[in-house]
Amino acid sequence: MLDKLVIANRGEIALRILRACKELGIKTVAIHSTADRDLKHVLLADETVCIGSAKSTESYLNIPRIISAAEITGAVAIHPGYGFLSENADFAEQVERSGFIFVGPKAETIRMMGDKVSAITAMKKAGVPCVPGSDGPLDDDEARNKSFAKRIGFPVIIKASGGGGGRGMRVVRTEGELTEAIAMTRAEAKSFFNNDVVYMEKFLENPRHIEVQIMADGQGNAIHLGERDCSMQRRHQKVVEEAPAPGITEEMRKYIGERCTRACIEIGYRGAGTFEFLYENGEFYFIEMNTRIQVEHPVTEMVTGVDLIKEQLRVAAGQPLSFSQSDIQIRGHAIECRINAEDPERFLPCPGKITRFHAPGGMGIRWESHIYSGYTVPPHYDSMIGKLISYGENRDVAISRMRNALGESIIDGIKTNIPLQQEIMADENFQHGGANIHYLEKKLGLQ
Ligand code: ADP
Repeated sequence: MLDKLVIANRGEIALRILRACKELGIKTVAIHSTADRDLKHVLLADETVCIGSAKSTESYLNIPRIISAAEITGAVAIHPGYGFLSENADFAEQVERSGFIFVGPKAETIRMMGDKVSAITAMKKAGVPCVPGSDGPLDDDEARNKSFAKRIGFPVIIKASGGGGGRGMRVVRTEGELTEAIAMTRAEAKSFFNNDVVYMEKFLENPRHIEVQIMADGQGNAIHLGERDCSMQRRHQKVVEEAPAPGITEEMRKYIGERCTRACIEIGYRGAGTFEFLYENGEFYFIEMNTRIQVEHPVTEMVTGVDLIKEQLRVAAGQPLSFSQSDIQIRGHAIECRINAEDPERFLPCPGKITRFHAPGGMGIRWESHIYSGYTVPPHYDSMIGKLISYGENRDVAISRMRNALGESIIDGIKTNIPLQQEIMADENFQHGGANIHYLEKKLGLQ
């Protein structure tokens, strides 16, 4: 097993990684910014290194400082968590070149999947169902672009190959708007992502977001751990996630899961990963792969019983997967509510001191968070302060436990989105299951 690991992240995921390390007997190094001295995992880690100021570019995004921290503490591996540098191929490359283990796939895999055109090409080749599209970059040949759009059928969406975070996309409904839309998306892509490659896809009007969790050891073994439904979104940000996805049969799970695992083997994938799909009229359409652990991984853990972070660490240590596909059974239902420090009416971040905190509990309740009474949520980072996960033998029980748990959570001193989560859990359409990605925004009057 790994001897000592640098946790190159903050907040709840840093604590999650620390706990997994403790279970496996791995010593931990918490790196942190000057704004994060009081983070819970920093207080619990074996060693800590303050690597810079609150600004992320001076700390959590600063590659030389993170690698130096690994060097001076004698760590052997670096876990990037999610966000920050977790999908930065240059970081993965420099970590490995400096002689450390990067907990994740090879840099070349991250690079390939970070570029959507190359990711889609690889996935198509491997037999993963993709959105009908231009099958490659668009050039400035108007006639060619128009013929693509006609073949696919309007509406289409123009997307930046280097895009992320829901930026660099434009929906086109008529032929007359096409040329200008391509030019505008290209200009935006150039300025946001320094990559002006754009491509075209069929625009799906009312899809659900369903994603498949996979795990591979880079030694020829890959398995899938079922799917999650993350359709409850606001501004392309997931708000509630659940596993399994309502209405997905065992047969469909097997169909899409097998395609994902086959693709993993084909591209030599290593570690945890997620294939994201849009799902409409019974069909899956691949949109992108995330080459890291995701925020919503606990719902998969609850229904499969697999500790995904421990498995990531085992794979990073060179061990083969500790389970095979036949060991994975989906049991019961799990829901995750992201708890954000934000004003629930205006959706603005609401940092500040937590004056009183009581965690929810009870059967089937899991609380993943770094906050405590007296902790001050700094204004510099993401507003997510915790994840509340409920589990039950079926979806109704999971919802009912979630409603109780939200009701008994006390977070005073700052505003949170708990009222919004209560509203979602009480919503008849949510309770029915299977709402599409526009549902929440429509409900909130944002669309
Ligand atoms: P990003 O990397 O920026 O998150 P994605 O390719 O994952 O980009 O797309 C983000 C979101 O944009 C999707 O979750 C979906 O809401 C919307 N979207 C992307 N492609 C399509 C499409 N072909 N049809 C409809 N909606 C789409």
